[in-house]
Formats: sequence, structure tokens, C-alpha cells
Amino acid sequence: MRTSLRFLLILLLLVGCKAKGQEPFDWDEYYRTHPYELKPIDIAPTTALGKEGEDTKGFRYAIGYSVNILDDTIEQELQALQKAGIRYIELKFKYSGGYNFQSRTDEDILSHFDTISHLLEKYEITPWSIHLPYDNASWTNPGAVDEKIRKQSEDYLLRVIRLTAIFKVKCYVLHAGKGTIGNMSTAISQAKKTITVLKEAAKANGGRICVENLIGSLAYNWEDLQAIVSDFDDVYTTLDVGHANINMGHPSEYAKQMGTKLGTVHIDDNLGSTDNHLLPGNGNIPDWKEIYETFLNVNRYRGVFIFEPSGTSYSAQEAADAYKNFIWPKLKPQKEE
Ligand SMILES: [Zn+2]
Repeated sequence: MRTSLRFLLILLLLVGCKAKGQEPFDWDEYYRTHPYELKPIDIAPTTALGKEGEDTKGFRYAIGYSVNILDDTIEQELQALQKAGIRYIELKFKYSGGYNFQSRTDEDILSHFDTISHLLEKYEITPWSIHLPYDNASWTNPGAVDEKIRKQSEDYLLRVIRLTAIFKVKCYVLHAGKGTIGNMSTAISQAKKTITVLKEAAKANGGRICVENLIGSLAYNWEDLQAIVSDFDDVYTTLDVGHANINMGHPSEYAKQMGTKLGTVHIDDNLGSTDNHLLPGNGNIPDWKEIYETFLNVNRYRGVFIFEPSGTSYSAQEAADAYKNFIWPKLKPQKEE
């Protein structure tokens, strides 16, 4: 309530100044005289690491939202994102929409992607990442112990990476395995075999492979995920904070373990047992401030803060509001009692 009153006052001041033709409102002076308000310094998304020891007070990530590239409703979704002020997206592939990727020729797919890339231009939205397909056990399992399935997955994912060159994304989010893993060390070396091929295709598009921490599968713990990515200088990780919450409870701890290997993020919440992909504030993740500050100072992450809520449960505006009203206020310096 106090915050809304304060902003109402500022708004009245601004309108007043405009009406009288006076100087515009002096934000620098406002933040100088209000030490408990955090002056936002917007980060232009980049894959480059932040400087070590940099003063990150007020650094504000650009936010992004996960969008299903195969939805028939993609134009409405992009429109809603623009309206909510969200300028970045992660493109993901799910077959719930009207477009069946697997049964199409390359030519068909490329023309569909061309249409989408024109829509992205129209709504001034930049794709930051692509979530590679993961929902088919025999086509999307890079760590399959069965070599035939592994190779099938490699070929399929390679085709997807090549066909998505038009989007010029920085990250390709990869699930290294699927389902329960029998022999962990074999699965890890199978995943590495696939990644060796995929990372070159990603690089040819100007992007990089970012392997995601998963629940109950390959790359669940940092030890396993590290075993997959540490041999590669040019392969990074995706931290899904919701998955980390189920794994160990305080996602900032998982983030710290990743260090400068962190390549991109998935922001979602849950109650610690089911992977609900709720918006922040609707689950029980206790350490949002620490998560945000770890990204800035330990991971030195300067990319996009990608929200990955489940399906159609939330609107783009609700994600933007969760950032503005739930996460950002946690970063303010605390008032002394
Ligand atoms: Zn995720």
C-alpha cells in the first residue's frame, strides 16, 4: 500500500511538472535521497561473464518467457508478451499445438520458422534460447544407454539445431537424459558423445549447448551434471530453479556449485515435491534474493531471466508482475528498525 502511494505521488509530481512545463522528474536525485529504493541498472543480455568483483547493486535482468514454437496461437502469445513489456523468449517444442514437426519436410519447417521470425520482428521480441525437444523417449534421449536410440536422438536433435539457425539464439537448452537412468556412468559418457556433435552445430549458429539440471534423471545432482559438462570448455548449464528446489531445497546452493558454467536459467517455483512450474511466490522456494544475487555475483551471469511457467496456467503479464512485485522488492536494502 505504501509503495503504491509513493508511486502515485511520483506520478502526480510528474504530471504536475509536465503541466507547468517544468524540468522532468529527477530520478537520480530521487534515488540519492531514498537510500532504501534500489535504482535499477538494466543489463543488456550477453553471454559474456560479468567482471569479477563488479558492484552489481541494482543490476536488473531483462526478463524472458518460454513460448511453444508449435502453438497455433503464437501470434497472440507474442502480442501479449509485447504488451507486458517482455522482450525476450525461449522457444520450445511441444507437440500439443497444430504443427507436427516430425512429419514435415525441412522445406515446410523452414517456411514455418520464417513466418515466426517475421512475427518476432513485428512484436520486437528477441529469441534468447531454444529448448530442444525432450518429450519423446526414443528421439530425444542423448544419454540413452541403447546406442541405437542415442544415435537416433543425436540425428534428430542435430536436425532441429540446423533448422533453427534462423533464430540466432545464444543457448540451446538440452535434457541430457530421459527417465530413470540404469547405469549412470554409461549414460554420462553416452550424453557426452551426443553433446560432442551437437555443440558444433550450435556453435555454427552462434549459440551453445546448455545442459539442464533435471529431476530423477540424468544431471539431477551437480556431481552428475558436472561430469557431463566439465570436459568441454564450450558447453554450459541451464539452472532450473524449480528442479533444484526439489533436489536440495535452496536453489541458490545449486547455483553456487555451477559457478561460471551457468549459461542460462529457468525461473519457476514449486512446493518441493512436484515439478509444478509455478510462478515465483506461488511455491516454497525460500531464497529468491540469494538466487538472484548468486546469478549476479557468483555465476556472473549477464543473460536473460527466463520464466518457465507451466503451459497455459499463467499469462505473460503475471510473469512480468511476479518479477516487478515479488522478486525485485526482495533486492532492496533492508531498512534498519
Ligand atoms: Zn526447465
